[in-house]
Amino acid sequence: MITRSVRSLARGLAAKLKPKPPITMLDYVEKYGYITSPSDGRQKWYTRPCQRDWFLAPTDPAVQCMVCMKPSRVGWSEYVKFVIQFFTDWRPSKIMIVQPTDDEVKKYSDEDIETMFDPAHGAPRLKNLLSNKKSRTSLKNTYNYKRLANGAIIDLRHAGSAGSARRVNRNPVLMEEPAAYPQLSEGDTLQLFLQRAGTAVDPFFTIGGTPVHPNDYMEQCFKMGDQQYRYYPCPHCGHYQELMTRDAWQRFIKEGEHAGKLMCEKCTNPETLSPLIEYRHLRTMDEHAGWACPREGVDRSKQILDDEGNPIWRSQQFGPGMSYHRAASWSELARRYRNAHAQLRMGNPDPMQVFHNTDMGIPWEPAQASRITAEGLAKRQQDAAMGNGYPWRQEDTWHLPRGVLLVTIGVDVQGGGGSQGEGLRVHVWGWGFGEESWHVAEFEIDGDPTQFETLDQLNPVMAKAWIREDGAQIPAALGAIDEGGLATESVRRWCAARVGRWIPVRGLPQPKAELLGKGVPVDFNAKNQAARQPGRDLMYYSVGYERSVNHWATQLNIKAPGPGYVHIGRDTSSQTLAELFPWKRTPVSSKSSVRHWSLPAGAHDEAGDCRRYAYAALLKLARNYASSDVMWSRWQRQALRSINPDPPSESKPALQLSGKRPGGFVTNW
Ligand SMILES: [Zn+2]
Repeated sequence: MITRSVRSLARGLAAKLKPKPPITMLDYVEKYGYITSPSDGRQKWYTRPCQRDWFLAPTDPAVQCMVCMKPSRVGWSEYVKFVIQFFTDWRPSKIMIVQPTDDEVKKYSDEDIETMFDPAHGAPRLKNLLSNKKSRTSLKNTYNYKRLANGAIIDLRHAGSAGSARRVNRNPVLMEEPAAYPQLSEGDTLQLFLQRAGTAVDPFFTIGGTPVHPNDYMEQCFKMGDQQYRYYPCPHCGHYQELMTRDAWQRFIKEGEHAGKLMCEKCTNPETLSPLIEYRHLRTMDEHAGWACPREGVDRSKQILDDEGNPIWRSQQFGPGMSYHRAASWSELARRYRNAHAQLRMGNPDPMQVFHNTDMGIPWEPAQASRITAEGLAKRQQDAAMGNGYPWRQEDTWHLPRGVLLVTIGVDVQGGGGSQGEGLRVHVWGWGFGEESWHVAEFEIDGDPTQFETLDQLNPVMAKAWIREDGAQIPAALGAIDEGGLATESVRRWCAARVGRWIPVRGLPQPKAELLGKGVPVDFNAKNQAARQPGRDLMYYSVGYERSVNHWATQLNIKAPGPGYVHIGRDTSSQTLAELFPWKRTPVSSKSSVRHWSLPAGAHDEAGDCRRYAYAALLKLARNYASSDVMWSRWQRQALRSINPDPPSESKPALQLSGKRPGGFVTNW
C-alpha cells in the first residue's frame, strides 16, 4: 500500500530515525515477544517469574555471561530465540550461535531461525529482515551464515569447527548444549568460542544446556558463574527453601499415596507427613521466589571474577518441577523416577541417566562407571592383600604372579607419516583361570607406525620370556595391534609376515558389534602377492567398541580376586591408571536418550584400548580350544614344562598350582 498522507509519512520517517530508548531485554520481550513455532504458529510470550533474570542479563552491564544448567523444557530455547531477536532487531549485532554438531546447526537454521523470520508467521518485528534470495550486493544467505537487511549477522557454528574457522569478532556468543561439545586437538573448545567475542567492549555470552556427567562442559560453565539456586517460600509456614535440587531431592516423596509431594524443610511432621508442598502451590510460590547463592557447599574456585573479586558470570541451576507450563508435573516426575529406579535395579542404568540429565538437569554417572577411577585403581595397586602391587619384595625379579597362565600383548597405534605424538603404546597382560588378569608391563615406542622399523621394535617384546614367581617362563602367546588409524597398510603387511603371533584388530562403533568379530581375510592387491605366505593368509578382526568397553567395566568392578578380577602391579604407571578406564556413558547426540561410551574432553584412553586389544587376543586364542578349561590346562602344562621339561604328573596341574599368596588368597584353580 502506498501512503498518500504526508503527515503519516512524516510520522513514519520520524519514528524510524528516532534513537531507540535504552530498554532492558525483559521490557523488549514483554512488549514485542512472540513465540514462533512451525507447529503451533505464533503466540504472545509470557515471562514466568523464574525466567525473568535470564531476560535481564543481556542488558545488564554487570553480567558477562548467563549460564543455565537445566532439565529439558524450561523455556530456555525461547529465551535464546529472544536474544537473537533482540540483537538483530533492537541492537543489530554480529551474533554467533554454537550448536554441538553441524546437523544440529542445519536443523536450528531450518526450523527455528527460518520460523522466527518467516514474513507471515514469524515475529512481527523481524518481518522482511531475512531474505533468502541472492541480492545485488550480497551473496545468498546460507544455513550457517545470514546477513540481515539491517546489517546484523547470524553466524551459526558447530562445536567441531572452533579451531579451523578463521578468527572473527562476534558478540553476543550463544552456546547451546556444551556437554555435547567434542574435544578439539587445537585446545579447549569452550575457550576457543569465548575468544570469538574478541575485542568486543561489552561482550555477552549465554550458555545453556543439560549436563550429562560430572565435570562436563555444562557443569564447568555452571561453576564459572556465581551458582544460584532458586528459593521458594513454603505455602504453609513461609520458610524459604530449594524445591527438588540437590539435598531437597531427599524431601521429595517418590512412592506411596503422597508421591509427587514435597516435605517442607521446616513445618512438615515426618510422622503424619503433613502439611506437604504440592505442585498446585508452585505458581504462587514462584511469584514470591528468588535466586540466591547458597552460603555453604558451593565450589567457588572456578568462578570468573571482575577486578574487585565479584563473579561476572551469572549461573543458575534450574531444578525439576520449577517450570509449570510445559514440564512434567511432580507426580509425573515421581513416576518417571520409579520407572528409572526399577530399570536400574535390573542392571540398566540408562533410564536413570536420562532421568537425572533431562528431568532433573543434574550430572549423573552410573555406579558402574563412576566407581572406576584413577584414584580407585591407585588404591587397588596398594592392596597387596588382594594380590596387587607385585612383585612384593624389592629383590624380586619375576614379572608374573603364580596365577598367570598365559600372556598377550595389546598395541595402540598413534598417528603416522610424521604426525605429532606418533608411535606405539604397548601393554602386556597376563591371564589366568576364568579371565583373572594381571597388568604386566607397558612400553612406549616412538616413531612413525607406517614404517616397519617402528613396528619391528615390537619383536623383542614378543620374543621376551616373562618370568613367573615359580620360575616358569611364559612368552606372549599372541599380540593384537590396532590397524584402524593411518598405518593400516603397514600394520597389515607387518602382521602378514608374523601370522600366528600378531593379529591386526580394528574397532567397530556399532552397539551390536561383537566383542571379537570373525576373522576377515586381508586382500593385499595383486602386485604385492609376495607379502602373502601361502596357506597362512592374514586375517584381521573387528573389536566391538561398546561391548568391549562394557566387558572391561564389568571386570574392573569385580571386587575380589578370582575369575575376572583385574590385578595392578607395582610398576603400573599413574598415567596408565588414569587411562585404563576414562570412558563415560553419554547420549549419542544432545537430544538423544540413547547412550554410548565416549571419551570425555581431554581424557586419554590408550592404556584402556591396549587392554581391550590384549583381551581380543585372548579371545582369538580361546577359539583354538574346545573349552576354556582345556585352554588353561594346556597353557599351565606348557609353563610348567619350562621349569621341568618332564613333569612327573601332567594329569594333576591343580596340585602344583595351589598355594598361598602373600595376601592369603588361594588360587582358584
Ligand atoms: Zn513449611
